[in-house]
Amino acid sequence: MSLNQIRTLTMVATKLTIVAALIFGSGLIGQVYAQTEVIAEPEREILNIRGDLYRFRQVRHAGVFLVTDDGIIVVDPTFPEVSTWLKQQLDERFGLPVKYVIYSHTHNDHAGGGEVFADTATFIAHENARKNLQRPADDAPLLPREQLWDTNNDGVIQESEAGGYIGVDRGEGAFALFDTDSNGSLSRAEIWAARFGGATVRAPDIYYSDKASITLGGKTVELHYTGLNHSDDMTVVRFPEESAIYTADFLTPNRLAWTVLDGGFLPDWVESLQQVEQLDFDIIVPAHEAPGTKAHVSEQTRYLEELYAAVSEGIAAGKSEQELVDSILMEDYSHVLEFEKSRPGNVSGAYEILMSTPAE
Ligand SMILES: [Zn+2]
Repeated sequence: MSLNQIRTLTMVATKLTIVAALIFGSGLIGQVYAQTEVIAEPEREILNIRGDLYRFRQVRHAGVFLVTDDGIIVVDPTFPEVSTWLKQQLDERFGLPVKYVIYSHTHNDHAGGGEVFADTATFIAHENARKNLQRPADDAPLLPREQLWDTNNDGVIQESEAGGYIGVDRGEGAFALFDTDSNGSLSRAEIWAARFGGATVRAPDIYYSDKASITLGGKTVELHYTGLNHSDDMTVVRFPEESAIYTADFLTPNRLAWTVLDGGFLPDWVESLQQVEQLDFDIIVPAHEAPGTKAHVSEQTRYLEELYAAVSEGIAAGKSEQELVDSILMEDYSHVLEFEKSRPGNVSGAYEILMSTPAE
């Protein structure tokens, strides 16, 4: 999600049913969650998950932190408004410095706002974060997926062409917001800026490649790279003592990936979920919605595998994107959060990924 979506969601959130507090009652952690509503209220909260692991949340965006005797490890400062509030809360509640900031990935609605911790913390991310945080040149070519939208082949995206992540699910005014030079079209650099850009994402100090661990105050946190999924720089953070993992965007218990799959990777995403299934944990603490269990990983894996197969078959049979959206109904998953909203976007997103990825 982008900051623009967050603003929209903040307004929507006030109308949603509240189920928040009960879910986190300590007796329920580790059980299967029968969560059927979006958690969006109260607007901000900090809740203990288990042991020294806590979750902080603003509306539908969350991160986690682990408290040790020698300081705090934060995962996903989120964006400046949240991190400023979090820093104040950590100071008041624990009086300990933040020593490490881990980015799940570098989209600016999760990795934003870390600067407030920069005086005490070391920042860590996957090595692909380095290139993702580089602003493309003004004349950089559109990505293959964006070229699908560029029906007049002029190398930039007009509002009439804007689809996928830039268009359909961004709401009124989004295009103008991204068109920072107000020339009526979006360049690769402007599209990049919508997700990675702005001055809000502080550059990491340390990059890791496959697996890393941090030890602080006698506690260990593991960083796992499980390959391409929602992004190419995604870290799963594991807390061994709490038997918990933190996941962002590519794995949300009981909710599909956000609408048009945000330019993710298929079929790699399925393999990434399979790798997560192999990790040792009981609780998933996600960056969006309610915590879940390993059963939710299996469900997401099955869903994405079936979606991938159905869209692949449809493309091979020469069907159009709209025909696929109308026919791939994924009814076995209709119980998950916001299914009606995400299912058509997921089909479109899978179509875009497969149509813009060279066949193996
Ligand atoms: Zn993301």
